[in-house]
Amino acid sequence: MNVKFENISKIFSGRRGTVTALDDISLEIEEGQFVVIQGPSGSGKTTLLQILGGMMRPSRGRVWMGDTDLYAMSVKERARFRARNIGFVFQMFHLIPYLTVEENVMAAAGVESRLTIRKEARDLLDQFGLRDRIYHLPAQLSAGEKQRTAIARAMITQPRMILADEPTGNLDPHNAREVLDLLAKFNRQGGMVILVTHGPVADLRASRWFDIRQGRIEEKLAASQIST
Ligand code: ADP
Ligand code: MG
Repeated sequence: MNVKFENISKIFSGRRGTVTALDDISLEIEEGQFVVIQGPSGSGKTTLLQILGGMMRPSRGRVWMGDTDLYAMSVKERARFRARNIGFVFQMFHLIPYLTVEENVMAAAGVESRLTIRKEARDLLDQFGLRDRIYHLPAQLSAGEKQRTAIARAMITQPRMILADEPTGNLDPHNAREVLDLLAKFNRQGGMVILVTHGPVADLRASRWFDIRQGRIEEKLAASQIST
């Protein structure tokens, strides 16, 4: 499923005036790509991911998910589409504080039997080195463990794509590396990853890199594509 932004703008109007958070962005991302979008705070990264994730209607333009016009769907259809296809990872983890690690992961899954979901949650948490943390609450975890739990939660629905908003922003370099490795692995297995960040991303073999500034996006050429 390719993802396409067609002339997307997002304008916020409020008492303090008007902010053009995204300014006529068009881009197409092919299935299986790992895309990194870098830009300073306030450049429009979170807005872009929220629009991609079906959580915020753009002021102008269309978002295509394959042949589906994301914002032509009803709210209910879009929620269902999102649950089936898209996983989210956030800088601040957004785990539910009163659920255990295992319950946080299970809560993201929906329709299958509890037994199946529990097994899948445990398999993922095993793979992510969290086997002996499944009954812990988020407050009892390190930041790295929280983010790995959040990635397990994003993956339990077997989404086609993961949208990651500054996923390493609160992690030390070692844990940041682990989180990027998990996302890279998801990508090698065929999943699309779109990661936005204001900081540098160490040693990541992404398929494509973009800069975003003041709501405008520009693709950076990979070193191999630059002719000298
Ligand atoms: P980033 O994630 O790159 O820091 P954002 O997408 O959060 O940037 O914000 C882009 C711009 O849009 C900023 O100027 C921000 O203040 C503004 N903005 C974001 N969300 C809202 C909102 N709900 N209402 C008004 N302005 C907003
Ligand atoms: Mg942001």
